[in-house]
Amino acid sequence: MAILPVLKAPHPRLTKVSRPVAQFDRALEELAENMLETMYAANGIGLAAPQVDVHLRVVVMDLHQEDEPPAPQILVNPEVLQASAETATMSEGCLSLPEAYEEVERPARVTVRYQDLDGVTHTRECTGLEAVCWQHEIDHLDGVLFVDHLNRLKRDRIIQRLVKEKRLARRTRDGAVRPAA
Ligand SMILES: [Zn+2]
Repeated sequence: MAILPVLKAPHPRLTKVSRPVAQFDRALEELAENMLETMYAANGIGLAAPQVDVHLRVVVMDLHQEDEPPAPQILVNPEVLQASAETATMSEGCLSLPEAYEEVERPARVTVRYQDLDGVTHTRECTGLEAVCWQHEIDHLDGVLFVDHLNRLKRDRIIQRLVKEKRLARRTRDGAVRPAA
């Protein structure tokens, strides 16, 4: 198992569309295990493969309450089959957009389909936080970030802050390796 680096916005590879998983093999299991470890290490509740620079349709999630045991879920080729006309608004964050939290409006109920690590297909209905998480993670597989659902002004403000932080981090790193005069 390994903790993988998470791509941060704005990164061009976060906007790439991921391809479906065709092989249910040991490499897929390993990817899912590493994604779960990465998600737990970052205190996240969901992570999509493109966030760790693997452009395959794989998502991991764990929505257990703090007083409950961990409940890892591995979703291969997940898709929304049906979405309710009724919407709900919830505050969202993302491991690829550190420190950014905004209210996003999405369908309140979705019927979803996915495959497990053995390639077996499952269908179910989700509401509440689960419905939000499914839609947020499936968006990643299509190269969409939650800020893309916000108005342009809000989106640009968040992205510009991240660009500035990236630039600062780079400068600090450069400074650290520069030999003392
Ligand atoms: Zn995300």
